[in-house]
Amino acid sequence: MKVLVVGSGGREHALAWALSRSPELTELHAAPGNPGIAALGHCHPVRAEDAASLAAELKVDLAVVGPEAPLVAGLADELRQRGIATFGPSAAAAQIEGSKAFAKAVMDAAGVPNARTLSEARPPCVVKADGLAAGKGVWVCRTQPELDDALAAVTEPFHVEDLLEGPELSLFAIASGDAVVPLPPARDYKRVGDGDAGPNTGGMGSFSPLPDVGDDEAGEIVAAVHEPVLRELARRGAPFHGLLYAGLMRTADGLRVIEFNCRFGDPETQALLPRLDGDLLPVLAGERSDLEVSRRAAVTVVLAGGAYPARGDAGTPIEGIADAEAAGALVFHAGTALHDGRVVTNGGRILDVTATGDSVEAARAAAYAAVDRIHFAGMQFRSDIARG
Ligand code: AMP
Repeated sequence: MKVLVVGSGGREHALAWALSRSPELTELHAAPGNPGIAALGHCHPVRAEDAASLAAELKVDLAVVGPEAPLVAGLADELRQRGIATFGPSAAAAQIEGSKAFAKAVMDAAGVPNARTLSEARPPCVVKADGLAAGKGVWVCRTQPELDDALAAVTEPFHVEDLLEGPELSLFAIASGDAVVPLPPARDYKRVGDGDAGPNTGGMGSFSPLPDVGDDEAGEIVAAVHEPVLRELARRGAPFHGLLYAGLMRTADGLRVIEFNCRFGDPETQALLPRLDGDLLPVLAGERSDLEVSRRAAVTVVLAGGAYPARGDAGTPIEGIADAEAAGALVFHAGTALHDGRVVTNGGRILDVTATGDSVEAARAAAYAAVDRIHFAGMQFRSDIARG
């Protein structure tokens, strides 16, 4: 099977890595890809938004779309119109991430528990902008000054909802063909600093399995959360084919949905795919629905530029990637470029270092041992991923 991966980050490198292990893969292409993906297949200098004509030219058997923005803009529709089998939802179905108001309406119609919308903004509460905000459209307000700041900062339509409390988890389900295939629960770390200090980011690390939600609970949660939402989307004429990601919180009153995403989460994907023993490719292609998950644990530590999330970094040489790989880690490229044959920084999040082990503790120790071998000027990372 000839496959095109659309996107350029660590999530797409992890997808390319998992697909490259499939005996069914004959050719791997990426648009635009990154220097890590280039070691696995052919990267084309084509923006994600323009990937449909490339897919048609290459006559790929399957396109796998990583990021949300091109999905919300209709890339999967364009690919399918050109006759390309595609893993990724239509623009209409991607509204489950693209519009919080739509997601709320779908969840309420499907009877899926989520945060209550409040008619009045009063702390404690959460202010949520309606559209795609790349992780920047949510303000958790415990105090009146925090709420005042949120209302001053929000620039588009928004709603105010209950502030929920409890541990969070991410649960992915692959909805392709007729089957819904759950992946194991994972956890990500959104704040930039140790102990959840500092501003929100795209994600600073992740791990799986979780100490408080077993792999064996995934099927039950998917039946209660993802499947009703998928049925409701189909009922509305917007069937969802792709990865449905539920961000969940385990509150004192039970599980609540915080958000849905219409694609693989980044960086949870980098910890989840190395836990799979089964072949991902036929599952994404909708041909099979069995995906063997190992008991191995995996921990991913994100290495970011010094000014992240305020600013990215470009052109700084990176040392030690091969050393970290020699130590047994997977080093996924998130924001890198090649300059005179050397790998340099090119983004906010630069590398995602994943290690596996018999336990979360072992995977964590191996991931941080690999991180110790990598260096670039200004490199920052959280030292508490998967701890406690
Ligand atoms: P989102 O962009 O919807 O993932 O929100 C970002 C983060 O804000 C989530 O991971 C939660 O930590 C937090 N959050 C969102 N909605 C709520 C809520 N209703 N109650 C408490 N925290 C929330």
